[in-house]
Amino acid sequence: MLFSKLRLTGFKSFVDPTDLLIKDGLTGVVGPNGCGKSNLLEALRWVMGETRPKAMRGGGMEDVIFAGASSRPARNYAEVSLVIDNSQRLAPAGFNDDDQLEIVRRITRDVGSAYKVNTKDVRARDVQMLFADASTGAHSPALVRQGQISELINAKPKARRRILEEAAGISGLYQRRHEAELK
Ligand code: ATP
Ligand code: MG
Repeated sequence: MLFSKLRLTGFKSFVDPTDLLIKDGLTGVVGPNGCGKSNLLEALRWVMGETRPKAMRGGGMEDVIFAGASSRPARNYAEVSLVIDNSQRLAPAGFNDDDQLEIVRRITRDVGSAYKVNTKDVRARDVQMLFADASTGAHSPALVRQGQISELINAKPKARRRILEEAAGISGLYQRRHEAELK
């Protein structure tokens, strides 16, 4: 699955709709401190179903909503859309009928998060499962936060094992086994 576009609206510092086109090869984002580079990576993680406020550098999930600035009032919702090129049909079963997948997550104050895949309402779990086996996803080892390298070096063996399992692409299996055991 190839990411082709990320759109942020009212997400953290990106108050107006902003498109990041992800083309073949390497995409670099450069800019001065505080311009929103890390916010872009967080938006990617968030649209794939991140539910931990800490991973979003916030105290609560609603902290991702544009909080206002001297010249702009705060927003009531934040939305991130991720467009995926699925022409090679690499998406998991259930999501694999279209050449293109658009995953949208929106959080509204006092309401919470809602997810869509190609305009159809889905659950958070569906979006998390969409990415669970693809070494992408909110917890993907391919997404490296600022400061994470030093955390990895200092990680305890169990935490390091989880990272290896994610990298091997088997964490989705654990999730499904856990659910099967509950049923
Ligand atoms: P550095 O180079 O220092 O790592 P960066 O480009 O990664 O910087 P970010 O951390 O992505 O910058 O962006 C930080 C900016 O985002 C800060 O100016 C902060 O005020 C702003 N910001 C974060 N959350 C919100 C929010 N909810 N509403 C408005 N602005 C926000
Ligand atoms: Mg940063």
